[in-house]
Amino acid sequence: MNFHILTLFPEMVMNGLNTSIIGRAVNAGHLSIEAVNIRDYAFNKHQSVDDYPYGGGAGMLMQAEPVYLAHKAVAEMIQTRMRGSAQCEAQPSGERENSPTGSRLRTVYLSPQGQVFNQKMAEELAREEDLILLCGHYEGIDERVLEEIVTDYVSIGDYVLTGGELPAMVMVDAISRLVPGVLHNDVSAEFESFQDNLLEYPQYSRPEEWHGRKVPPVLLSGHHANIEKWRREQSIIRTYERRPDLLEKCELTEKEKKWFREWLEENM
Ligand code: SAM
Repeated sequence: MNFHILTLFPEMVMNGLNTSIIGRAVNAGHLSIEAVNIRDYAFNKHQSVDDYPYGGGAGMLMQAEPVYLAHKAVAEMIQTRMRGSAQCEAQPSGERENSPTGSRLRTVYLSPQGQVFNQKMAEELAREEDLILLCGHYEGIDERVLEEIVTDYVSIGDYVLTGGELPAMVMVDAISRLVPGVLHNDVSAEFESFQDNLLEYPQYSRPEEWHGRKVPPVLLSGHHANIEKWRREQSIIRTYERRPDLLEKCELTEKEKKWFREWLEENM
């Protein structure tokens, strides 16, 4: 999968994404991450990319043209590569026709006004071959270019940051983990939080006893069915305690519902 991050601070995103699992996945060729400096597409000699908003108000706005040109350059590069590849001839994502400016390429604008990012969105976006992430700064970006190039508006939470770089890094990290090859197969097959609308169960490592706290005996029993049952129950309890909104969406079996009712009676 190829990430293309349009930003005024390319070194910030590249420095944040070139270590650990993501850095290794890039080196192994499972991912590519490029940060495109929007300032390189400024059309004045001072390379400024921001201006005052019409109608007044505090702060500056990123202008439409440099963002448009940076996006166009990336879109043309992707299209040239796609045309050159046999995959492109087969048009696997056929319906998605790209205009000369690449306006239909999956282009996410990181914005506090977007849909809040979650694991389901990460799973869906991980199926893309190319993903363009547009980072705003200052008070945001001129609306007209957003209308022309953006396909998705995504927020990482209901708070306002100074720029889209950290949100873009959050998205790249969460999506990359789902790209085949990035995690070892045995790790990617493991149950993780948000699968089945449940949080992950508690986990323990050596020693068996730490500060007087013992590892739950079932985990030392070697009895796989009992361990699975215990983990599922712990996931249900933990989700109930920490994210009851998720548990409402979780499909429990009749047996699990009965067990959970009994657990509630005993513990409430
Ligand atoms: N004036 C904008 C508003 O009120 O919606 C906020 C602009 S914010 C200061 C600057 C940039 O940071 C935005 O253009 C966006 O790219 C990014 N940003 C800020 N908070 C974000 C969030 N919660 N999720 C994603 N991006 C965010």
